[in-house]
Amino acid sequence: MTADVPGPPDPGLCADCAHALLNRTRRGPVYLRCGAARTDDRLPRYPRLPVVVCPAHQPVDPPDSHPGGAG
Ligand code: SF4
Repeated sequence: MTADVPGPPDPGLCADCAHALLNRTRRGPVYLRCGAARTDDRLPRYPRLPVVVCPAHQPVDPPDSHPGGAG
């Protein structure tokens, strides 16, 4: 029998956001920090995960950067 150890939280929108920064502590835990919070007062520096709505979400790889379909 194994103990139920919760996995990392789902980051939601932050998962593919260009503003997401990971801060790793010496003891191991990793915190997701919002880089856009430095200049945007609407955003928390350490957003509560999962982020489901964000006015500053900026996908690293936006869908329209890959023209779909075969030639
Ligand atoms: S801008 Fe929004 S989606 Fe992007 S890292 Fe910050 S809180 Fe997350």
